[in-house]
Amino acid sequence: MSKNKSSESVKVVVRCRPLNRREESNGPAGSIVKMDIRLGQVILRNPRATASEPQKTFTFDAVYDANSKQRDLYDESVRPLIDSVLAGFNGTIFAYGQTGTGKTYTMMGAWMDPEKRGVIPNAFDHIFTHISRAQSDRQYLVRASYLEIYLEEVRDLLDPNHGNARALELRENPDSGVYVSDLTSCVCKSIKEIEEVMNVGNQARAVGATDMNEHSSRSHALFLITVECSQPGPDGRKHIRVGRLNLVDLAGSERQAKTGVQGERLKEAAKINLSLSALGNVISALADGRSSHVPYRDSKLTRLLQDSLGGNAKTVMVATLGPSPQHYDETLTTLRYANRAKNIQNQPRVNEDPKDALLREFQMEIARLRAQLHHRKWRSKQKKEQVDGEDWEGDGDEETDGEEEKAVEEYVKLEEQRLEREKQDIREDQFMLADEKQRLLGEKERMMGDLRKEQEATEQLTAKYKAMESKLLVGGKNIMDHTNEQQKMLEMKRHEIAEQSSSEREIQQQMLVQDEETVELRETFTSLQQEVEAKTKKLKKLYAKLQCIKAEIQDVNDEHVRSRQELEQTQNELTRELKFKYLIIENFIPPEEKNKIMSRLNFDTEEDQWKFQPLVPAESKSLQMKKRPASAVGYKRPISQYARVAIAMGPHSRYRAENIMFLELDMTPPNTASLDRSTDSEPNQSPSLDGSPTKEGGVRKSRSWCQTPKSITSSSSNVSLAACHTATPMTAQ
Ligand code: ADP
Ligand code: MG
Repeated sequence: MSKNKSSESVKVVVRCRPLNRREESNGPAGSIVKMDIRLGQVILRNPRATASEPQKTFTFDAVYDANSKQRDLYDESVRPLIDSVLAGFNGTIFAYGQTGTGKTYTMMGAWMDPEKRGVIPNAFDHIFTHISRAQSDRQYLVRASYLEIYLEEVRDLLDPNHGNARALELRENPDSGVYVSDLTSCVCKSIKEIEEVMNVGNQARAVGATDMNEHSSRSHALFLITVECSQPGPDGRKHIRVGRLNLVDLAGSERQAKTGVQGERLKEAAKINLSLSALGNVISALADGRSSHVPYRDSKLTRLLQDSLGGNAKTVMVATLGPSPQHYDETLTTLRYANRAKNIQNQPRVNEDPKDALLREFQMEIARLRAQLHHRKWRSKQKKEQVDGEDWEGDGDEETDGEEEKAVEEYVKLEEQRLEREKQDIREDQFMLADEKQRLLGEKERMMGDLRKEQEATEQLTAKYKAMESKLLVGGKNIMDHTNEQQKMLEMKRHEIAEQSSSEREIQQQMLVQDEETVELRETFTSLQQEVEAKTKKLKKLYAKLQCIKAEIQDVNDEHVRSRQELEQTQNELTRELKFKYLIIENFIPPEEKNKIMSRLNFDTEEDQWKFQPLVPAESKSLQMKKRPASAVGYKRPISQYARVAIAMGPHSRYRAENIMFLELDMTPPNTASLDRSTDSEPNQSPSLDGSPTKEGGVRKSRSWCQTPKSITSSSSNVSLAACHTATPMTAQ
């Protein structure tokens, strides 16, 4: 990553918590972490190593030991970041470390106890105090959101039905970067309100989990604060600066055991680790500086923190450690991780006049409401003056809002009284007809109703206007009691001290590096013996350093091998599962069905899921899909075009084939011969040609049936059908 003028590295601080009671009772082994606060160094002792083995030393921007106060960490390492956010930069603070090392303690703390308040409550104080002391030409809008990422799903902690709510999606905006769509964001006007938001979120987090500690160690919690500030610029126009602050309490960094679990449990374990290992990969890629691809898209967490790592943000990482010997490996991993993060370069810049500033929308809406209100009042006033018989002189602008309101109220009262009086007059008028009276009274009544409606509408508008306006905070006003000057001075001093101590530490660190380089240059040797001694000493020092680095390489190699073995194991498990699924597919799903499904599937990279394409592509839907035939008017059911033509054509032999149904019994020719030979008519010949049945020997028969009984069985026989038509009227048309 190229270093340019505005780039600055991620600030990494380390904090170690005190030994807890259980660890103290475990024995006198004590803490394995030693800290040099002046130099910003952490010295880690390997409890399994021999005495001769050198200890590991890491240097950071600041270190906080077991005795450190919440306030120290805030003043020295967090305050400058929050100041930047208030100036319109993006800022991120994230706590990283093994479960139980004090991530939540550092970020949240015991917020009721002023001594133990963590970064988040202190940031609330800081932001609102800053606003209350700002110049009065500034307007602020503060919003807060709270979310968690659990099993690679983003959940809104401020959503009232958090438990059942579906997971939220991440979207990308070229202006403001990656954001969570449909995330609840609460406008907060005071410390109390924003604390309320925090409490609601914390409760949702606790309720969602059966075991709070288990859940919190597996989920990442992000508290987001957006501070928008509008301020008149030198060009006379109002400019808006937007600072976004991400306060992140990460999941426990310890390895989740993946070996020996299968199926859902395996996937779950893999997902828990996914975000953190993706974070590790992103940090490695950025710290390395040579890799062109940074895998931000591998997890939800890294996508959300994309700006904070190597982008437009100032970032502070708090790595938390436990002092107990049994967690040596995890502590070492955390320190290595933190050490790598120091090399990440960010390019923070002020977010000036972004398109999506909510403050701008608020200001516009307030201006619109004010204009509307003003117009309404002006109208009422004009009416009043007409009533009073005065001329409108257009000096209304000079009156204040209060006076205007009073004038309007007065007008309404007078108007009501006037209408009442007129009604009374009408009632008492003896010369008026009853009908006329009724009509006039009704009219007056209607006028009064209108007046009241108008007044109600004005009141509603005023309430809306006031509600909108109250959401904007004006610098130097209305949020909290003005702290007295002394307190302000005290804070300033504390701030200065914090700044001084951190710059002192920086100088010390630089001096240490320079010392090592220059000491040999300055050395002059009076005798050979002295030179030998000095050089031997140096050799020993360098040799020790070499050993250190060798051990480091060995450690890293071991770790590499371990994680590789784990990955292989996971791969094996997944391959086995895949084979199982293939077996089912090959043996139980017909190949053509499988192909149909396969051809419809495509991968949605945005949501990281396979999705079915619709059966008909959306754009060609109207072209390809024929409309369902509407039931033809006058027919009981939809009817084919062919049949319709047939009906239109009338009974034509050509279309006879449709809708043929004979309801009469298929008569076989009688096989009984009449014994009565005296009649001259033959049994097979009916005297009537129109097909009317004749009674003969108890059998009804139709002539045509009798003549060609066979030919009618086939509906395709036109000849016989035609004959049939002429002979007998069809019953089933
Ligand atoms: P994590 O969030 O990393 O899992 P917690 O913040 O819940 O860890 O801390 C575990 C316990 O250690 C808590 O009881 C907390 O009060 C205590 N603790 C952590 N850090 C400190 C500290 N710096 N000073 C005093 N107690 C601490
Ligand atoms: Mg925690």
